Amino acid sequence: MISAIRIALTPAAADEINCPASRIVVMTSGHDVSRAKVCAPAVWARAFFERCGIIQRRKLTLEIVNWVTHPLGVPVIATFDATRWRARISNFEATLALILPKSVYRKLPFRDVYDSLVVHEVAHAIFREHVGGRRLPVTAHEYVAYAIQIASMPQETRDLLLSSFPLQTSKDLARFNDIYLAMRPLRFAANAYRHLFRNERYCETIARIASGDAEFPLPLE
Ligand SMILES: [Zn+2]
Repeated sequence: MISAIRIALTPAAADEINCPASRIVVMTSGHDVSRAKVCAPAVWARAFFERCGIIQRRKLTLEIVNWVTHPLGVPVIATFDATRWRARISNFEATLALILPKSVYRKLPFRDVYDSLVVHEVAHAIFREHVGGRRLPVTAHEYVAYAIQIASMPQETRDLLLSSFPLQTSKDLARFNDIYLAMRPLRFAANAYRHLFRNERYCETIARIASGDAEFPLPLE
């Protein structure tokens, strides 16, 4: 009863919390309790970059909403507003509804999938901050975000995902092109993970990609 009164008094405006040891704020509408759960994957992503010497300095806001709509009008899992440095992410239920029935994500524990999608968005933001004004192909950004997303999954979940895409990509980055990303995003993701973590020098690889020195194929006209 007391909690019901407290909830009733909670302002309708968005509510927010600061994730510990980070410059990440999670916002939700009203009393949505899911925001605390979003901090764990967000902080994981930040810590990953920190171990590579890439420090998040710009405050990042993650807004968890019932439904994210792409500027083109279709519902999507997440969008990023670079002006406000804010990612809008569909909440757990909406994301579950957006995953296609045949997607490999459906074979995995969905909490793991959702957490990894939060990691993906935070990874994009921190990597973008580090890249600064340098222009990189979209595939370079997705390679990094997907590889770190897959790395964040619990081992069993990750193994299940990887076993769904047994065919590995060759050693060079040339195959990570726009068509591969558009047609088979999760295969792209699995192989980005395998490629980035093929050795212990993944921090160097990320730094090389951020500096524009890694040879990603240019966008196809
Ligand atoms: Zn992405």
